Amino acid sequence: MPRFPDTTSSDRPMMDAVARAYAAYGQKAGRWIDGFARQGGTVHCRSGCVHCCDFPVRCSLAEALLTASALSGEQLDAMGRRAREVLANAKSANGWDEYFQLHRREIGYCPLLSRETGACTAYEVRPTRCRDTFSALSADYCRVGTLENLNRRETAEYTREVRANPATDGLSHYIAPLEDLSEPIWDTAARAMRQEWGMEVWGDFWVLTTLTQDEAFMAAVRAGQGAKATKRARALGLWNAEIVEIG
Ligand code: SF4
Ligand code: SF4
Repeated sequence: MPRFPDTTSSDRPMMDAVARAYAAYGQKAGRWIDGFARQGGTVHCRSGCVHCCDFPVRCSLAEALLTASALSGEQLDAMGRRAREVLANAKSANGWDEYFQLHRREIGYCPLLSRETGACTAYEVRPTRCRDTFSALSADYCRVGTLENLNRRETAEYTREVRANPATDGLSHYIAPLEDLSEPIWDTAARAMRQEWGMEVWGDFWVLTTLTQDEAFMAAVRAGQGAKATKRARALGLWNAEIVEIG
């Protein structure tokens, strides 16, 4: 696929708006975490903790553009390979649960994760979902297979701990208010895409980041031609209705 290193384009204001929304979220999340700590709460996320980097990640094309703008050719190639794996999984998986589990177990860690250091190599431009995922309980619960393999007693204990923790929604150990605080980022991205392109594009992080590199796809998006963009994504083999939403 021809590479399209167009980071000085008309998309720049949109990318800047997303970057400002990320910064605002970072400040709000930091204040929330400080307040939680003052009340005795613990956020279990630590640098080098990587169990959430094997989740599927959904984002906007506006965010994917920002990520792509900071990646090397080698990283973009790795994102492209990951995109193909994601699409193959979407084609073969029987429903969301199987898709989610196979993504974690067989596709595995994001190619932007450094396996040596446990750091995100695109930390400044990582998408929203990577910013607003925090755990109120031990990181062991984030590890693939842990929750699925709890026995009855352990499940009861997990449920009790989740319900007792004021930072959760009572269903899982992830910190609900920190997810809620990221909603303005989604709103900013949606508004910016509507203003610039007259439509929104959402979907898998790796697929969208790869699509940003295709000139014909991006030209159709910039012209607000959803059907043409879809056709181009199909021609590239980067299309699945469950994975990319254009409109
Ligand atoms: S969400 Fe879980 S896996 Fe991710 S950094 Fe936090 S504790 Fe670690
Ligand atoms: S972009 Fe970074 S934080 Fe997000 S999944 Fe990839 S390595 Fe992890």
